[in-house]
Amino acid sequence: MGFTVEQECPQCGAPVELDETDHLLRCPYCDVNSFLFADDYFRFVLPSKAPNRDLIYLPYLRFKGSAFSCDSHTVRHRIVDITHLGVPFKRFPVSLGLRPQAMKMQFVKSDTEGLFLRCLLKTSDLLARAERHSSALDSQQVFHRAYIGEAMNLIYLPLYVEKETLFDGITNRPIAKLPKDSDIFSSIIDRNPRWGLTFLATLCPRCGWNLEGEKDSVVLTCSNCETAWEAKRGRFVNVNLHIAAGGQPDNDYLPFWKMSIQVKGIKISSYADFMRITNQPKVIRKEWENQDMSFWSPAFKIRPKLLLYLSRRLTVGQAELDVRGKFPKKNLYPATLPLSEAIQGIKVTLAGCAISKKKVIPLLPDISFSIKNAALVYLPFGETVHEMVQPNTHVSINKKSLEFGRYL
Ligand SMILES: [Zn+2]
Ligand SMILES: [Zn+2]
Repeated sequence: MGFTVEQECPQCGAPVELDETDHLLRCPYCDVNSFLFADDYFRFVLPSKAPNRDLIYLPYLRFKGSAFSCDSHTVRHRIVDITHLGVPFKRFPVSLGLRPQAMKMQFVKSDTEGLFLRCLLKTSDLLARAERHSSALDSQQVFHRAYIGEAMNLIYLPLYVEKETLFDGITNRPIAKLPKDSDIFSSIIDRNPRWGLTFLATLCPRCGWNLEGEKDSVVLTCSNCETAWEAKRGRFVNVNLHIAAGGQPDNDYLPFWKMSIQVKGIKISSYADFMRITNQPKVIRKEWENQDMSFWSPAFKIRPKLLLYLSRRLTVGQAELDVRGKFPKKNLYPATLPLSEAIQGIKVTLAGCAISKKKVIPLLPDISFSIKNAALVYLPFGETVHEMVQPNTHVSINKKSLEFGRYL
C-alpha cells in the first residue's frame, strides 16, 4: 500500500485523500474531477509539527515498482520499495522510517514556504543502491536490468535550526549539531523552483465531454467521441486506441500496450525473425516474414511475475486481432501503467520469450529498441469462477492477482 496524500479540491477547497500514485482527484463534495500533472516527479512534504519556525526541507527520493534482472539462465523479478536521503550529509536519517505511513503528505505547491534542498541523488543511483542490498540474488553475471515504476516521488522532511542545532520538524528532536557560523545548506538550496502542480480539467479536448477514468488511471477515455488521452507537458494528448472485436456484452475489457518496434543490434524486422531468434517450437509460416513485430505489455499494474507472463504470452502469440470492436460503454478496466514504463520492459519480454536464454540474454546490452508506433488495445475477457479469460488468445489472469495489482 502506498502513502496517503491530502490535497484540496481546486474547485471548492474541500480536502480529498489520495494515494501517492493517484492522478485523478474526484471531489466528493462538488463532484468535479481534476487530473494532477507534474513535469517530472510528484513532490510531497511531510507536514511540520514545529510551531513558527523557518523550515528547511530535506529531500528523499522514492521508487516503488518492479525490478527485473536477466542473467544467462533466467529472468528474475521482485518488487522494490525504497526511499533514501537525497543529499550526502552524514548523521542525517538515511530513510524516512515510518513517518510517511503515519501521516498524510501534502503536495509541494508554489506557495509552500521554506527552503528546499536540492536532491543530489539520481534515480539510477538509488536503484543501484537497492541492487546492492539484493546482490545475493544475483550471483550470476547480470546482462540487463529494468525497472518499471509505479511511484517515483520526492518526499521532503521539514527541519529547523535552533541554537546551532538542527531539529526534525516532525518529532521536534535534535538531529545534528551544526558547525558554528557555517552555512552548510546554502550551496544546495533550490532557488525559485516553481514546481507547482498542474490541475487539468477532465474534459475531452476533442468534443468537450467528460473524460472517464479511475483515481489511479494514467489514460482517460471519452465515451462520446471514443478516444483516449494521456497527460504530457501539462495537457492531454491523444492516445491511439483500439478495441478488440468479439467481446460479449458482459465482458470486461483490459488494457494493453501494443508497441511496434525497430531494433538495432539484433535482426528482428518481422514476426518470423522474432520466432527464430527466440527459438519458438513452431513452424515458421511464410506470411510471418512480412508481418510487423510488436511487443505487448499490460497497461495496468500487476505483480512482476504476471507482468512478464502476460507480456510474453501476447508477444509470442502476436494475435492478429480484429480491432474494429465497438467502444464498450462500461467495464473498461483502468489503464494505470503508462506507455513510458511499459517500454522499459521490452528487453525483459524478449529475454522472457527466449527458449534458449543463453543465446539471447548476453546480446541484450548491445540491443536497442525504438518505438515506431504504439496503441492502447482493450481486449475483452470473460469471467470464470477464479479467472478472467481472453477468448481469442486464451490468455488467463487470476482474478485475485488482478485485484491485488490495484493495491501494489
Ligand atoms: Zn470540490
Ligand atoms: Zn470526446
